[in-house]
Amino acid sequence: MATALGSPAPFGQSQFALVRGNAFEAKVKAGGGTELLRLLFERLGAGADAPGEAVLPDLTAAGPEGRTARTALALREATASDGWTLLDHPMLALEVAGSPVYLEPDAVVVHPDGTWTVVEIKSFPMIDASADAAKVGAAARQSAVYVLALERIASVTEGARVGHRVLLVCPKDFSNLPTASVVDVRKQRAVTRRQLTRLTRIEDIAAALPEGATFDPGCTREELGTAVEAVPAAYAPECLAACELAFHCRARSRAEGAVETLGRGVRGELGGLTTVAGVLAAASGKEGDPADPTVAALRRAAALRAEALETADGGARCR
Ligand code: SF4
Repeated sequence: MATALGSPAPFGQSQFALVRGNAFEAKVKAGGGTELLRLLFERLGAGADAPGEAVLPDLTAAGPEGRTARTALALREATASDGWTLLDHPMLALEVAGSPVYLEPDAVVVHPDGTWTVVEIKSFPMIDASADAAKVGAAARQSAVYVLALERIASVTEGARVGHRVLLVCPKDFSNLPTASVVDVRKQRAVTRRQLTRLTRIEDIAAALPEGATFDPGCTREELGTAVEAVPAAYAPECLAACELAFHCRARSRAEGAVETLGRGVRGELGGLTTVAGVLAAASGKEGDPADPTVAALRRAAALRAEALETADGGARCR
């Protein structure tokens, strides 16, 4: 849709990064997941026998619904057994805003005691046993969603328990050798669960659209533009890293002179001033209530800037 609107998002993982990531994941899971299970047993296997031969159930089925049902069955069978089971790319379903969303974790391991552990395999390095905090945070948020989806199945599976500590597997230092660390995702899980309950249902968003509005990328740019305009958007620079419509929304937000384009922090500081033109008018004394602390702060900043420029100008003239 972003492309059809004339603002394609040129981001996404590069082909090189994808190939490297896939090769690393294949290496971690090679030989029936021996290395992966060894890392998991080392970090989270206390109290159980070391996994010798793990069961690797076949999870192939037709369509996402079929794969989800097949995964749920495999999880139930694995929980009933007293061995280790490795589910490679299982498929889980989670209701988001009233619609099912299908999720595919890298792996889920079922322990002999019925604990289910999410495994995330990432290609960013873990140097001296620690990785980039922002990337680990993103992986934790992603895993928390898988934990929530697994909890739905576990609630109807006797003896099952979803672990809130997930295994993050990354390349060790600058090598291609896997290493792992345990990430507790309880906080991310609680935040995500709260956010999911607060989401506006898709039916409600659809009901508020004008009659006949469509988001079919096959429509003309004008038709699509009108349909997208009909949905309120709250653009912020953070959208650039997360949403494919970011370039479209940024252009719209800039055209409206919205202060949101400057970031949420700046937006928060500006109180009731919502446009760049309004801010400049308040700073220059053309508009705004001088008793308003935001307006007063802007005028003080403008005066300091003018003073600094004058000094710089004077200095330049002396030279
Ligand atoms: S406001 Fe942000 S999240 Fe919403 S559609 Fe636009 S770019 Fe995407």
